[in-house]
Parts: sequence; C-alpha cells; structure tokens
Amino acid sequence: MAEHTALPPEEIERLRSYDREHVWHPYGPMPAKADSHPVVAAEGVRLVMADGRTLIDGMSSWWAAVHGYNHPVLNAAVTDQLGRMAHVMFGGLTHPPAIRLAKLLVELTPEPLTKVFFADSGSVSVEVAIKMALQYQRARGRPRRHRLMTVRGGYHGDTFGDMSVCDPVNGMHHLFAGILPRQLFAAPPPGGYDAEPDPAYLEELATLAARHADELAAIIVEPVVQGAGGMRFYAPAYLRALRELADEHGLLLILDEIATGFGRSGAFWGADHAGVVPDIMCVGKALTGGYMTMAATLCTDKVARGISEGEGGGLMHGPTFMGNPLAAAVACASIELLTGRDGRGRDWRAEVGAIETVLREGLAPARGLPGVRDVRVLGAIGVIETEQPVDVAAVQKVVMDHGVWLRPFNRLIYTMPPYVCTAEEVAQITTAMVAAARSL
Ligand SMILES: *Cc1c(COP(=O)(O)O)cnc(C)c1O
Repeated sequence: MAEHTALPPEEIERLRSYDREHVWHPYGPMPAKADSHPVVAAEGVRLVMADGRTLIDGMSSWWAAVHGYNHPVLNAAVTDQLGRMAHVMFGGLTHPPAIRLAKLLVELTPEPLTKVFFADSGSVSVEVAIKMALQYQRARGRPRRHRLMTVRGGYHGDTFGDMSVCDPVNGMHHLFAGILPRQLFAAPPPGGYDAEPDPAYLEELATLAARHADELAAIIVEPVVQGAGGMRFYAPAYLRALRELADEHGLLLILDEIATGFGRSGAFWGADHAGVVPDIMCVGKALTGGYMTMAATLCTDKVARGISEGEGGGLMHGPTFMGNPLAAAVACASIELLTGRDGRGRDWRAEVGAIETVLREGLAPARGLPGVRDVRVLGAIGVIETEQPVDVAAVQKVVMDHGVWLRPFNRLIYTMPPYVCTAEEVAQITTAMVAAARSL
C-alpha cells in the first residue's frame, strides 16, 4: 500500500467540525448529530482513515467499488481519457467512450435490449425509465395509462418519480403527501430466494394488475434482491409472474438492476435468476467500478420506436453531463476487467461464488443470537437482520475496532464486499458483523 500520512489530531478535529456544521450527508440533519469519519485515501479493498487506520470496505462504497480502490487499470482508463477530453456536451456531439460503453451494455444485457440512454445517476436513470414507459403508452394512444405498479419494500432512488415507487414507509411518503404521484403497491414479495412461490401472493399480483390495467403504464421492481428498502431476497418465480402479467395486460416491465447488476447476486443480472427479459432496464452503481457517477437506461427496439414515433418525437430528457467521457471510459475498463474481456483472466462468477461461501460460513454463528431475526446470503451480499433498529454508531464502533467499515441502517447489519476481497478479508468482515450482533 502506498504511504499516506495520517493527519494531526487538531487537523482531523477541524475537518470534522466544519463537516458537521456545513456539509450535508445522506439523509442527515444539519448540523449533523454524529460525526462522519474522514478518509484520506483508499487502496485495494481498504479505506485509509485520516488517523492512519485502515478499514476493509465491506460496503464497496454502496455496491459500486467492485474492483476495490486505486486500481491501476481503472486509474489508467481515467487518466488516458483525461488527456483527450474530460467532457463535451452530448447534444449533437458523440464520442468513442460512450459508443464503446453502449456497445458493451447492449452485448451484456439480454438480447432485446438494444437502445441505451446515459444518465448521470441511478436516480435519474429510473426517472428516465418511468418517462420512457409513460411516453410509450401515450404514443400508443393510451394516455390514461400513467401509473406504475410495484411491490412494497422497494428502493429506486430519491427524486420525486423514484420516491413514488419506493416503499411508502421506508420512503417516507407521508413527508410528501399530496405531491408524489400515487402508484399501485402490492405487498412485499414473500422472503427467501429458495422459498416455494406462494399461490396467494401470485393471486394478489394478478388481481391488482387486472383491476388497474387500464391505468397502468408499467411494472417496476428490483429483480430478486430488494436493496436499500430492506435487503430482502425473493424467489425468481415472482419475477416471472410479473413478466407474464405485464405481457397479459400490455404493460412494460422495468427492472431496476442498479444494485443487482454486474454479478452482485451471483448472476450477472438479477433478472438472469428468473430468465426474464425486461422492456426497460436501469444500471448504475458498479457500472463505473465505483469511480464516477454514471448510470444508463436500456430499452427494447419496440419501446424506442414507440416513443420516437409519438408526439414528442423523442425521449424528453437530456442531462448536461450525459455520456460523460471520463465516466464512460472508466466504465468500459471496469466491465472489461470484470468480464475478463481484457484478457487478464478475472472471473466475476468465481469471485462472487467464493465470497458467498465465506459469507455463509462466517455469518452462520449469528443465527440464533438474541436480538437476531434472520441471517441471509445471496451472491456477494450478506445480511444480519436484527429484531430492533440498531444503534448505528455503536455497531460501527464494534466493526471499526475489527478493522472493517460498514454502514448499518434500521434493523440491518449487512455487507457487499468488493469482489477482489480475499477469503481472509471477507472472514474479517463476517467476524466483525457477528461481533456487532453479539454486542446488541
Ligand atoms: C442506489 C439505487 C438507486 C439510486 O441510484 P443513485 O445513483 O443513488 O441515484 C436506484 N435504484 C436502486 C435499486 C439502487 O440501489
């Protein structure tokens, strides 16, 4: 690891106090109630904290940093592109990195998905997906079809359209009552990847779709793994059922693969568990290997043609930083690295499989501990669900004392490690998680 000088304690305190008073953090109050921990560098799977400690990043910076940090191949992709151009507008101009990335995404996603819209964050890519569905239905002469059906327990981002399809309770719909579009919610899919599909639940989905078909544009869900809405896994059969209902009632199926994409759940796409192909798909998070903000919305020829022949004459969206060349270049490098296309011999499936084995073994001792409701693992995702909401600062103290960075929320202590973690590093994460569960 490169040398990074720790900051003197007074300097750390100055940083912390300015941060607390002036810098807003996710979902936080201002001024902050709890200090954020200053990081000065990151290398491999470790964060280098300002006080000189290093912590294994069990969060992959929120699902994104699948190759770890300061990766020579990804660094080279950014610096090489930086020497050509950092950014140019995408209206009327195009460039090789964006075209190369679109080609990779078209190749890697299920065959009918052939059209790519670059967005500047996951949230925006979901907005674009919703817009696509609404414009498509309107273009087909069905303007009444403007609502979305989804399931409770989902998370799709923080902008208004996205919030309207997030879980109504976790997503704090009451704070925006009367403002958010009112969508149609089925109960959360019954938990358990391996669980037998529940006929009563399938019936509920079918009834809801049938009853509201004439006002529905699309169904939107996260495939198989519900991420920030509760870290729950559900049976692929429910995804197949939603695909069938969409076809039966002329709805589009939008799959939000922002968290699940790029191998995280043990399949390259979450939808692969079910063999389902969506009409519209969102990717983000790990797209750039955690280097830069970028996401994309893909759709089929049919959807693209419908929208383009409609009254708008095109898709009504166009971010300033659309298709950013730096982000596109590093995304290409990340995907080539991940899929072994660059000839370096990386094998994401083997890496995720190895992590899954260690997560299963390492988290098993948490099962049955007082205060622990459930322990579950799918691919490179490991979750300890507790009975009561955890004291985030207290849990973080325990895991940081074990040399690990995690960010628990509500009743969830969970990890999605970088794919390049060794077995020992994953074991260090699970040891820290079990210690945190014991400390409850
Ligand atoms: C993180 C996430 C989003 C939002 O992405 P941002 O880049 O944070 O805007 C949307 N959907 C899912 C499933 C996510 O996990």
